[in-house]
Amino acid sequence: MTKGTPSMGKKSKGKTHIKCRRCGRVAFNVSKGYCAACGFGRSRRIRRYSWANKKVNRVRIR
Ligand SMILES: [Zn+2]
Repeated sequence: MTKGTPSMGKKSKGKTHIKCRRCGRVAFNVSKGYCAACGFGRSRRIRRYSWANKKVNRVRIR
């Protein structure tokens, strides 16, 4: 009988993304085995796009 707002606090089961070894962002998918941000584990080249230069904490993401 726990559904709704009170049970939303139990949503922290397991982690999908851990800290990436190459880009340092928490974007490495554990189950998939590659980084969503830089493509580490998926491709040898670093995944980067011209439209993906969002600034986090006023610092441009590598
Ligand atoms: Zn990465």
